[in-house]
Amino acid sequence: MRHFKSVQFPTSGSHAQSSFVLNLFPIDVVLAILEHCSPFDLVELRRTSRLFRAIIASHQQLWVSSQRNLAIGTSLKVPSLPAIEASGNFSQWAYASWLFGGGPCTSCSKWTDRLPCNFVLRFRACSPSCQSILMFEPVLYVDRTRKHDNFSWGNWLPRIGRELSNGDTIHIYSSRAIKTAELERQQAIRIDRGTPPDDSMPFPCRTGVQLDEEYNRRARSRPELIKNAEALKDWQKLYMQQHDLVSQSNSEFLKLRSVEENRKFQGVMRCPTVSRLFFAFNRDLVTITHTSQGSLGRYTCALIIISLSLGPKPDARARRAQVPATRRLSRRDDPAAQRQSALPDLLAARQSRRPRRTQLG
Ligand SMILES: [Zn+2]
Repeated sequence: MRHFKSVQFPTSGSHAQSSFVLNLFPIDVVLAILEHCSPFDLVELRRTSRLFRAIIASHQQLWVSSQRNLAIGTSLKVPSLPAIEASGNFSQWAYASWLFGGGPCTSCSKWTDRLPCNFVLRFRACSPSCQSILMFEPVLYVDRTRKHDNFSWGNWLPRIGRELSNGDTIHIYSSRAIKTAELERQQAIRIDRGTPPDDSMPFPCRTGVQLDEEYNRRARSRPELIKNAEALKDWQKLYMQQHDLVSQSNSEFLKLRSVEENRKFQGVMRCPTVSRLFFAFNRDLVTITHTSQGSLGRYTCALIIISLSLGPKPDARARRAQVPATRRLSRRDDPAAQRQSALPDLLAARQSRRPRRTQLG
């Protein structure tokens, strides 16, 4: 049985004790559990500790199995991470975070948990109204004369091609991406002239030669990115079909449980933890059932939260208040009342056992 020999564990700090416990645990068992995770489960586990980061980093096949785990119902496996030559964060966890971890809306900058809505231009919309804004100018720049083809960034900047009725093709860019490309080029010119670079810019400082080399790498990576964006667009349609089915099923399940627990469904769903659990189950295309495999822990948490987090039932308190005094338990029959009545006697007895202070002097 294999143990964590290939993983570098922390030897000090708060993670040392947990690494010691996990070191006694067979890695085969841990990996078998991790193989059932979704891509975003791995992202979140990776954030919890250096230990999990080390385990996941040394077993990259976990990302492949997590992408396969979303092939449920009509949904297919998540398209693989493209092999990108250009610099930037194109790691597996960054890819999973970008897809499932949410981000700011491209239109209004509000945070949204939705998937990106345009994988070529990397747009994300928080609502249908914002999504409609992202389909027109000024968010988009329609290059009818294709002047950007002649600029230095024209060979790599992401674009959507549209064929016109006369047979010509126009290119549609993200206006923000054009602005960033212009700033990046201006920064390289400043550095070549010896002017101090602006550190607030969202890209590394490069000279003109370095930027040209990076442009070439981006141009070589562009076909792979376009291919991946098209695969993601096709995958998203089927994923969202299954997502809607699972979401409806989970909603009905929680409604039934709410009725059984004598809770209002809207009140249950307003509980932040329940809504997060509901979102996570839907995101991972897992239906909540009494015996959900791989999600038993989440389901148990959901039930505990539904049962306990909202406190005592208000209806039970109301019913108790309506019970006639003659039908209530007498103090002799009610254990809680007996404990309450016995409390002063116990305190008095404990007080009497305390040693009395002797006053000196
Ligand atoms: Zn928005």
